[in-house]
Amino acid sequence: MAKIITRFAPSPTGYLHIGSVRSALFSYLYAKKNGGKYFLRIEDTDKTRSKIEYEKDIIAGFQTLGLNWDNETLYRQSDHIAVYSALIKKLIAEDKAYVSKEEPKEEGERSEVIRLRNPNKKVTFTDLVHGEVSVDTTDLGDFVIAKSVDEPIFHFANVVDDHEMGITHVIRGEEHLSNTPRQILIQEALGYDKLAYAHIPLVLASDRSKLSKRQGSVSLREFLDKGYLSEALLNYLALLGWHPSHDKEIFTMPELISAFELERVQKRGAIWNFEKLDWVNKEHLKMNRETAENKIQEVLFKTLNLNPGTVDKNVLDAVVNIVFERINKFSDINELVLNNEVQYFFEEPKWQKDGFLWKGQGAFHEIADKLSAVEKLLGAMEGNYSKETIKETIWPYAEKEGRGFVLWPFRYALSGLAKSPDPFVIAEILKKETTVTRLKSAINFLTNES
Ligand code: GLU
Repeated sequence: MAKIITRFAPSPTGYLHIGSVRSALFSYLYAKKNGGKYFLRIEDTDKTRSKIEYEKDIIAGFQTLGLNWDNETLYRQSDHIAVYSALIKKLIAEDKAYVSKEEPKEEGERSEVIRLRNPNKKVTFTDLVHGEVSVDTTDLGDFVIAKSVDEPIFHFANVVDDHEMGITHVIRGEEHLSNTPRQILIQEALGYDKLAYAHIPLVLASDRSKLSKRQGSVSLREFLDKGYLSEALLNYLALLGWHPSHDKEIFTMPELISAFELERVQKRGAIWNFEKLDWVNKEHLKMNRETAENKIQEVLFKTLNLNPGTVDKNVLDAVVNIVFERINKFSDINELVLNNEVQYFFEEPKWQKDGFLWKGQGAFHEIADKLSAVEKLLGAMEGNYSKETIKETIWPYAEKEGRGFVLWPFRYALSGLAKSPDPFVIAEILKKETTVTRLKSAINFLTNES
């Protein structure tokens, strides 16, 4: 069998859509699985809507994802106008196409376009996802293939390029299924070989509408900015419309390549699920724990404006661990920071007096007394200062006074939050000296009249 060549052919008319990345991924996986090649082609025949800014975004996106294309030079349709022109002229000379005089309907519309002579036949092709598809093309009439000899429209350039690039398999989104009969007629007029097609299911929002801005992020850039890992994104996208023959859901790229089969791509629309994406991302974070921890550290330094020279390495490591457990993607760190959930490890929290009250009960001077007792017990500790030994030291006193009345203000004094890890865990991370200083400061705050 001839070598398989697939392609991804985005139009640079917007930022790279996550659904398009899924189409590209399926083309990539199919080619790689079968020892073939995967090409990238920029379809910029629509001069008014195509922008270089979008082309750059598409290219950078694929580079970041590591979905590297095999063509050595970038194939851009606007660089091939001469090829299309010659072929349009040839079709006109053979009377397979003709210049049609049109009555402009609106101002600025052409008075001439080029139309293909439609043989008005039934076109039948086998789609690797949808099976045999048969369409009577009569209704299409003599459709337009170019605005002028130098201005092919999308369908024409698309067919010519698939041939020029030696594409064997067209794997693309289902929105192009209805374009295929028209493209096959162009192909036949040009005397090209048939191609294999696979139209993969649409990516839908949970209400089965088209996935759009309304549901949140849709461009690859936004997902990358949120700190999803490339490999996790690709893993999640692969499962949108395809699933392997077994239950495995977490894949590295080499595993995806070896497991992927077009035969297992479903026909029905694939529903986008942000929670599942988060879960897949977390699994990949676990597989790349060291890289993830380094990144968390980097984000913490930046968002908290920490001074690397003064941060205690053990405290930092402990916080990185806590953050790791709490996030699914790196942008979740910003939320933790916004909610003040990590700052208290590095600096004294900002307290509210009422925050010290266990279930709203008690007097501030009583709470200050309890904190003072805790502070003295901890201050007297010698040797191992761990969450276990801290607990052993405080527990009898807490039991005597009522656990909530001691442990709640103890925890609040350390974190300044209504919800945080238990006080023993925080105290161990802060170490004895900082714990004691912080308790003293909280007692001061509580007994201060103002
Ligand atoms: N340029 C088309 C698009 O961006 C893709 C056409 C194709 O894959 O055949 O939707």
